[in-house]
Amino acid sequence: MRHVNRCAALWPRLVDLALGATDTELTAHVEGCAQCARSLAQLRPIVGALAVSGEVPAAWVERAVRVFPRRARAKLLGSSMQLALARTSVGEPFLLRFEIPGGQFSVMYRPTAKGWEALGEVDVPGAQVSWPQGRLLLTSDLRFQAVAKSLSSFEFLVEVDGATVAIPTPEEADAGE
Ligand SMILES: [Zn+2]
Repeated sequence: MRHVNRCAALWPRLVDLALGATDTELTAHVEGCAQCARSLAQLRPIVGALAVSGEVPAAWVERAVRVFPRRARAKLLGSSMQLALARTSVGEPFLLRFEIPGGQFSVMYRPTAKGWEALGEVDVPGAQVSWPQGRLLLTSDLRFQAVAKSLSSFEFLVEVDGATVAIPTPEEADAGE
């Protein structure tokens, strides 16, 4: 299950790879992962067709839509303080709450000596959280911890109910408010 979740999080990079980007880490993963190899094989002709001509055959589009997982962006429900304050060099802990299918995703961002720590919680049983940018520490089924140098690294993905929901970074959440 974890593995499937991790592969779902690789989608944006798979698309870039199909478009010709150099990604040695992902290339190595694809060589050992049948699921991603299959996805890449399906993506190549699709992005090829998109890149070559402005007019995309309807059949390709249909296929692309089928292949791509449904992805939405979580809506910010509330924050414990003005985000502008959180971006100062001093920094103070703050909490953001996002809406996801069936419940909420809350994250407490806390400044540390080396950067930031994110302590998150999902209230939807069965939801799978992943973090393409780094190593996510799952402290229990529905709680996780992540550390990063900057807040902009905290882009979490939540897979719930067959859909992948992207959690905006604090900066993005602030801009989208
Ligand atoms: Zn994979």
